[in-house]
Amino acid sequence: MYRNQWISFGRNRHYMGTDGAAYTGVKTVGTNLHLFDVRNNQRGLLRTDNAWVTYYGKQYFPNAQGNLYRNQFISFGPTVKYYLQADATKATGIFKAIDNKYYYANEEKGINNGKIVDLGDINNTNPINVKKAVTWVFFTNNGYSPASIAGIMGNIAAESSWKEDITELGGNQEGIGLIQWSYTRKTEFLNYAKSVGKPWTDFKTQLDYLLLEMEGSESWRFKPRTRDRYPAPYNYFGLPNGITDFKKLNDFVLATEIFCVNYESPATLDSLPKRIEYAHQDFSYFIPLIFLDPGHGGQDSGAYYAGIKESTINLSIAKMVKQDLLNLGYRVVMSREDDKDVSLLDRSKMANEIDAKTKIFVSIHNNAAPSSSSVNGIETYYYQYYPEYPPEINQEKHNDPVRLEESRKLAEYIQNEMVVNTGAKNRGVFRNTFAVLRESKMPAILLEGGFMTNPTELSKLITPSYQRKLANGIVTGIQKYFGRI
Ligand SMILES: [Zn+2]
Repeated sequence: MYRNQWISFGRNRHYMGTDGAAYTGVKTVGTNLHLFDVRNNQRGLLRTDNAWVTYYGKQYFPNAQGNLYRNQFISFGPTVKYYLQADATKATGIFKAIDNKYYYANEEKGINNGKIVDLGDINNTNPINVKKAVTWVFFTNNGYSPASIAGIMGNIAAESSWKEDITELGGNQEGIGLIQWSYTRKTEFLNYAKSVGKPWTDFKTQLDYLLLEMEGSESWRFKPRTRDRYPAPYNYFGLPNGITDFKKLNDFVLATEIFCVNYESPATLDSLPKRIEYAHQDFSYFIPLIFLDPGHGGQDSGAYYAGIKESTINLSIAKMVKQDLLNLGYRVVMSREDDKDVSLLDRSKMANEIDAKTKIFVSIHNNAAPSSSSVNGIETYYYQYYPEYPPEINQEKHNDPVRLEESRKLAEYIQNEMVVNTGAKNRGVFRNTFAVLRESKMPAILLEGGFMTNPTELSKLITPSYQRKLANGIVTGIQKYFGRI
């Protein structure tokens, strides 16, 4: 009898256990996990599909050698990736990966099945931050604007302090869960949880139901309603097209008011200011922060040719970019808004200290080649480490491979779009250890819009129309970096 060993019949492999019977199901041999078939005609056959295999409702991925992937991401193409957990099952929902960071595998409505969303550098010792990040991703994937999501989140914070298992007495009825469902809505929610086979305390089930309710049985609440118990303007409050309008709101204060007054309808509106404050915090934290750094300023003009300061052109372009980004719903902070001195280190410090989940640093400059007036075109830089220039305040992140890769992507997008928008010469993306690129903890790039030493290019650079083209390129590059277009 064969025991504790592999046996093969042609290409079919089996493992015979201590009792002399072939292993079936998910079993460990040595340091590897394997999946052995349980079907009668192939009982104990080692699966070597090199494809997804479903076994008792869980998904596994055996490679061609029959080893199950585990504790790692696997990807198909540039955007879709999956994570296989320690037990070799595919991760879904919120999970913590081997890198100790939280991720979210999106399976909403079957779209992008299994697609992983990096919840980013959230403080992963704080479960509320994870819940908030998941909520943000969930509603974003369902077409909700950042402001509308912040409005929902501000209300959740006030209703339940993000405790999905909370039960509170309000009036003579219990409210339960994230948004304190009560009365008939509580009954309907409990029925829903039962129908999908989940406990009502399940976080994701509550999000699913909230969405279902908002877009279904309770969608009428978002339309104008008369409520005599509230002071004006809330005594007649709502949106003409209801939930359709709500999803598109770009004012988080209005979104918070609508969700509170129309959807939650508390006895009084005493808690409304608190809800708006919570919404503001989440709105600021979750929308991408673009730190714009117009190079030079004050005593330092940067390049100076034909009586024109580089610092002036840089600021002019940066202001155009800022306005466009604000219109697109980004959060923008500038290192300077006027012609003043800001040290290089202070520029990075300012950006590093902002509390935002996602930040990028864009430094805007123009170029000079004093020895050759014919040199022209656009170039963009990201960080290159040189040991002779050690970081002063960014030992931790300066050479982080993720930061570098994100910086490279950002540089490529912005460089390409500036070239497309201006028709200028594409000098390419380069690497260097400029201080702002070295000391900023986030993805960072430095662009050179054109050569002030080239008379033709300088004559363009000083015109608002050419600055506008550069600004459009920068904005489109940022939009592409964030996958928005
Ligand atoms: Zn410069």
